[in-house]
Amino acid sequence: MAGDAVRSNPKNKSRKKKNKRGGTKKKMTVEQSAAFRSVTEWVFLDSQSPSSSADAAASFMVDDFGVQKSLGRGGQRVVFELHCHSKFSDGFLSPTKLIERAHRNGVKVLALTDHDTLSGIPEALEAARRLNIKIIPGVEISTIFTSSGLDPQTEEPVHILAYYSSCGPTRYEELDKLLSNIREGRFIRARDMVAKLNKLKLPLKWESVARIAGKGVAPGRLHVARAMVEAGYVENLKQAFARYLFDGGPAYSTGSEPSAEETVRLIHDTGGVSVLAHPWALKNPVPIIRGLREAGLNGLEVCRSDGKLSAYSDLADTYGLLKLGGSDFHGRGGNSESELGSVNLPIIALHEFLRVARPIWCKAIKDILQTYADEPSDVNLARITRFGRIRVSKGVSSAGSSEEDLIERCLSSWLTVEERQNAEFKVIQSKFSSVSIQ
Ligand SMILES: [Zn+2]
Ligand SMILES: [Zn+2]
Repeated sequence: MAGDAVRSNPKNKSRKKKNKRGGTKKKMTVEQSAAFRSVTEWVFLDSQSPSSSADAAASFMVDDFGVQKSLGRGGQRVVFELHCHSKFSDGFLSPTKLIERAHRNGVKVLALTDHDTLSGIPEALEAARRLNIKIIPGVEISTIFTSSGLDPQTEEPVHILAYYSSCGPTRYEELDKLLSNIREGRFIRARDMVAKLNKLKLPLKWESVARIAGKGVAPGRLHVARAMVEAGYVENLKQAFARYLFDGGPAYSTGSEPSAEETVRLIHDTGGVSVLAHPWALKNPVPIIRGLREAGLNGLEVCRSDGKLSAYSDLADTYGLLKLGGSDFHGRGGNSESELGSVNLPIIALHEFLRVARPIWCKAIKDILQTYADEPSDVNLARITRFGRIRVSKGVSSAGSSEEDLIERCLSSWLTVEERQNAEFKVIQSKFSSVSIQ
């Protein structure tokens, strides 16, 4: 909403100049500059030269849509990639390869959002640390929305993105149970799709689907489609979907997905930010958005590499939702796929995202630390170091650090000094100094 206001602000008399692509460049408005400063402060919290971000603001311009344009004077754009997949679900690249590619594309913040699993996050963090990329632990959850009040009742598969803090979800076991149930359901579903194809006289083998998915990876429709291409039953993935695997298609099968509202509530209760993925793929978006908003949905994907979709942007405004988006990169190759980091989110949208997300994440980190301060068990320590962001081995405190340092390191990349100096953190910190890692 704010981005549009800026765009149409008649008082914006900034000198426009033509850039090479024929668009216009103008200086940031006061609002955009403030947003830019706040976003970069968070992005570069743990980098060596925090003061550089404010200087960088001076070398930035925005286009008509409030999207940053680098002037190419050493200034770096702050690119967020909020939706992508690795081999841990149906992506083609390992988290390491994905991060390396994101780095080449100038991505500074990346949310890895594999389907129904957080298993790729530790590897992503490891790779990201080397390349100075900030990882938002994420997941794309497969759910079903059942519209009430409609006769007959209609069901629609809905994908919901969840974004968590550096320490991951609170009440991790609850989320983990939901995700593992979905993954189990996906195995049953994939087997069912193979059985349906077999009945359609396509003798696809389960083993080839399982091999393509990889060890321990819950197979999805894309894996089935790849097996079909490999076996020569269709020419390409598109054909596999168009002829057999589309929603309601002859070889389509549903899994055992949880209800979308229940999932949104669980994301909220576990310290995450929930965003409805690709609403343009829904048959019935309005009742879904309305229903999920009531359950506590935070945002809507409205931006793609080919631009902002005004219909969904308007819906986000109507329901007071964040306007986000990501490439949904899978690494399939081919021209039709959006590249990692190719979605240009306006600086105001990024600022709004962090404005909503940071207090949620801050509280989640506090809750996770509190659990350990109250009961300093190995299990509770593992909650803090869930994704291996901080390595603590029993008996040897890493780099001779105390637990106070542990908190500092846990928080310094995620919370500002002011946020960390909050009274509640001080209390937790004092509790930490009285316990020691053995
Ligand atoms: Zn999706
Ligand atoms: Zn996706």
